[in-house]
Amino acid sequence: MKVFEKAPAKINLSLDVLYKREDGFHEVEMVMTMVDLADRIEMQELPRDTIIISSQAGYIPLDEKNLAFQAARLIKERYEVKQGVYIHLDKKIPVAAGLAGGSSDAAATLRGLNKLWKLGISNEELQRLGSVLGSDVPFCVTGGTAVARGRGELLEPIEAPPQCWVVLAKPPINVSTAEIYGKLRASEIQRRPSTPHIIEAIRHKRFDDLCAALGNVLEEVTLDLYPEVKQLKEVMMRLGAEGVLMSGSGPTVFGLVSKEAKVARIYNGLRGFCKDVYAVRLLT
Ligand code: ATP
Repeated sequence: MKVFEKAPAKINLSLDVLYKREDGFHEVEMVMTMVDLADRIEMQELPRDTIIISSQAGYIPLDEKNLAFQAARLIKERYEVKQGVYIHLDKKIPVAAGLAGGSSDAAATLRGLNKLWKLGISNEELQRLGSVLGSDVPFCVTGGTAVARGRGELLEPIEAPPQCWVVLAKPPINVSTAEIYGKLRASEIQRRPSTPHIIEAIRHKRFDDLCAALGNVLEEVTLDLYPEVKQLKEVMMRLGAEGVLMSGSGPTVFGLVSKEAKVARIYNGLRGFCKDVYAVRLLT
């Protein structure tokens, strides 16, 4: 038996960090949605009690450090599954990019193994399992568009944003999420995104208001450390993207574009600056 799952990338329409909690985690409030750029995951049952990961991407771990491996191990332990699984990850989402590629692979593995082994686990329970693996995993289990609070595991689903194009560009640098959060002084943040404004803009399908309300408090840390991300934002705005923001802790920058006619110009203009550029639709 084999199952296939798509693991789409997420973008943050907003990311606010409210404070640092006593348990060391940051209390966040963020609006997340998914884009049509996805890894494809194949899961095949093995008679032996083992987990094997393979991928064409040479730059991700294939052992227990891989989040798909951790998802498979977790579900096997919790549900006492004796069979093993072979998991192939066809990676399309750039790694360590702020697009939750690893988290989405983990979530897709949970969904896929639930089907493969006919476990009948509810979405809520899959999300609870996912929260053990990482803060973005619960959102990736169900996808859609949601406000995430707590560490990211408290989800309030909301309507889909107005349909548009999303141009994504990842400069050739690696950004550590832990380093960016570590350098953030939550109590000193000057400008915060307004979650109610974003929800309002989405509810009324007001694309311009949505673009104006985008905001990510991690930008000031990442842009300070990596001027190339700031430059990329400026280029994207100059080329005509209507709303431009860094996703997660970066370094990927995305631009929302309402008219298809503009997309090719922005895409081609950005290719002059970096190799990793994608033009996709929102997954609504
Ligand atoms: P987030 O937005 O959730 O912080 P990200 O997009 O910044 O995620 P990932 O692509 O998930 O980052 O990769 C972060 C790290 O996780 C990398 O260092 C990578 O080696 C490791 N990793 C583990 N499993 C995977 C996987 N299945 N796909 C990609 N990276 C993985």
